[in-house]
Amino acid sequence: MDYFPLFARIKNSPCLVAGGGSVAERKVRQLLRAGAEVTVCAPDIKPGLRLLAANNNRLHLCEREFAAADLDGAIFSIAATNDDAVNRQVAAAAKTAGILCNVVDNRELSTAILPAVVDRSPLIVAVSSSGESPVLATRIRQRIEKDLAPRTGELALFMGRLRDRVKSVIAHPDARRNFWQSLLGSPVAQLILDSRVAEAEAGFTELLDRAQSGEESSGMGFIVGAGPGDPELLTLKALRIINSADVILYDRLINKEILSYARKDAEFIYVGKQAGKPSTDQEDINALLVEHVRKGQRVCRLKGGDPFVFGRGGEELEALLAAGLPWQVIPGITAASGCAATAGIPLTHRDTARTLTYTTAHHRDDSEPDWSSLAGEQQTAVFYMPVKKLEQICGSLIKAGRKADCPAVIIENGSTEQQRLVRGTLKDLPELARNATISSPALLIVGNVAARGLNQPSTELSR
Ligand code: SAH
Repeated sequence: MDYFPLFARIKNSPCLVAGGGSVAERKVRQLLRAGAEVTVCAPDIKPGLRLLAANNNRLHLCEREFAAADLDGAIFSIAATNDDAVNRQVAAAAKTAGILCNVVDNRELSTAILPAVVDRSPLIVAVSSSGESPVLATRIRQRIEKDLAPRTGELALFMGRLRDRVKSVIAHPDARRNFWQSLLGSPVAQLILDSRVAEAEAGFTELLDRAQSGEESSGMGFIVGAGPGDPELLTLKALRIINSADVILYDRLINKEILSYARKDAEFIYVGKQAGKPSTDQEDINALLVEHVRKGQRVCRLKGGDPFVFGRGGEELEALLAAGLPWQVIPGITAASGCAATAGIPLTHRDTARTLTYTTAHHRDDSEPDWSSLAGEQQTAVFYMPVKKLEQICGSLIKAGRKADCPAVIIENGSTEQQRLVRGTLKDLPELARNATISSPALLIVGNVAARGLNQPSTELSR
């Protein structure tokens, strides 16, 4: 290791920055954020720094050349001028004074380098490539940024605030560590991340009481939307829950790549349903969900698209509610949005499509949709699960008054690499789709907007 990682407390301590331009300003802002008393030396100080100094009494400007005496009393220095000779002079003076010096863009002259930072104060993550590749360090910082919930700092504060209370109740250090670990995996942590502080406090007290009496901690049921297929269309929240779940109950339509984001030691349970094939009953899925949450596990019920759009997520939520278990629903991008986006089809358009309906021709009791409500000229109708009934859907819409040449498009495996798309009209689409052997999962979009689409996927099977 060429560098010693260190978090330095510079609050109220003098730091010196040589340079008066925008690079110096950036460094000054970082130092001020950590509470330092900053002196800037430069013969030409730009307006940005002047404005900053006017609004901040911890920033002092010395409008002249740097002199070694400027380092007197300083604990840290940064050389950020665009004059190599001056930067060298600062570095040499800092060496003589025995203080660390960062020289911007000059690893050889620097005795300290500044990391890329994820700031969730009090939690701070610093990343460095030891100066080899700042771009790589930044990329890694961005990845960590994405993985850490915005309120991770609040979680750290919450835990810090309760340390003494836990210490007074759980004497043994190992038991205390276990307690904190189970808290991080519990709904309490998630509640803090969701700003539900009062509930978190109550959950914490309950957890501590249980720890004291040796009981198990309570689990959480997450009903999570996995989006239409492309893993990049997951929400950050869904990703975080997949990352940390103990158990994952997943559907047939879940992309395997998404499953690879789960913990390697997570328990994976396939509960896929497919029309006409043996499948797990909804009752069994509900029971599995309840059983694992009750055991104290974090259970991620991972569902394609959005869990509340033709997903029976409502029934799963009711099962958790009936069992009195804690729950959360994480919305996902529904297939209609995912398919429309990749096909370049706006689902509404202020001139030609003013109403949008998500529907399906598959009803539990075999009843028919209200076709007349879907037949308006300005109506976009999106049909989920359309493949088997395509002919019937198109025919019924025409019978209800929709024009036979009304544009219609069917999109198979939307948003994935296998996406295929067939365009036509209500009259000819069933045959075109049959010829192209379009199969499930596919989505049907009917209405004026279905003729639009600027960025057709390359695999389009157009007429
Ligand atoms: N909850 C899901 C829908 C589940 S019903 C959602 O919000 O998207 C299953 C139906 O969704 C499929 O039969 C198909 O009509 C549609 N679907 C899901 N993923 C799809 C995809 N990638 N491409 C096209 N249709 C999709």
